[in-house]
Amino acid sequence: MTHIVILVGPPGSGKGTQAEFICKKFGIPQISTGDMLRAAKRAGTLDPKYLAIMDSGKLVPDEAIIELIDGRLKEDDTKDGFLLDGFPRTVPQAEALDALLSKKGLKLDAVVQLDVPRELLEERLVNRRTDLNTGKIYHLLYNPPPEGAKLEHRADDMPDKVRTRQSAYEAQTAALLPYYEAKALLRRVDGVGKPDEVTARLEAALA
Ligand code: AMP
Repeated sequence: MTHIVILVGPPGSGKGTQAEFICKKFGIPQISTGDMLRAAKRAGTLDPKYLAIMDSGKLVPDEAIIELIDGRLKEDDTKDGFLLDGFPRTVPQAEALDALLSKKGLKLDAVVQLDVPRELLEERLVNRRTDLNTGKIYHLLYNPPPEGAKLEHRADDMPDKVRTRQSAYEAQTAALLPYYEAKALLRRVDGVGKPDEVTARLEAALA
C-alpha cells in the first residue's frame, strides 16, 4: 500500500517537525521543496534569480518547483509513497501534482492542515534553529538544541521576511484548503501545543 500525504500550513506551523513522525510511521521519504532549494543553494547550483526570491520570502515560480518535484518523484525511494512538505503551495502546483500522480496511476491519501494562529507563528520562526548536521529543528525556548550543535538560523526566519512569507501563504497557499476540501482529502489538525501533543493529534487524524 502506498502512502501519499501532503502537509499544509503556514510557515512556522510545524510541518518540518511533524514530517519526521509521519515518515517514520509509514516508512516513506520526506520531500521538502524548501530543503531541496536550500541544498541547491549550499551546493552553489541554485539559479541566482531563485536565490533572491527565496531570500526575500516570496514564492519561487511554479514551473521551476514543478520541475524539481517531477525529477524527485522519479527516484526509486518514492515508489511506496512519500510525504510532501511545503509543496504544493499554489493551486497551479496542486493541479500539476494531480497530473503527475494520475500519470503514474497514484492517488493522494490525505492532506493534513496544521492550524496555528498567526500571532504564534512569528515567535516560533524567530526562535527556530536547525541543526546543520542532523537536520533536526529546535526552538530556543521550548525545545532547546543540545549543547555543541551546529545551528543555523534561516535568513528568511528574520521578522520582516517572516511577514512576507505569511502574506504569501495567505495570498497563494491558503487557497489549497478549499481545493482539497472539495476532493474530501483535507484533515485539519490543531497545531498549537508541544510537538508530542500535535503528533498525537496527527496520528488520530491519519488513523
Ligand atoms: P520552506 O522551507 O518550505 O519554508 O521554503 C523556503 C522558501 O523556498 C519559500 O519561502 C519559497 O521561497 C521557496 N519554496 C519552497 N517550496 C516552494 C513551493 N512549493 N513553491 C514556491 N516556492 C517554494
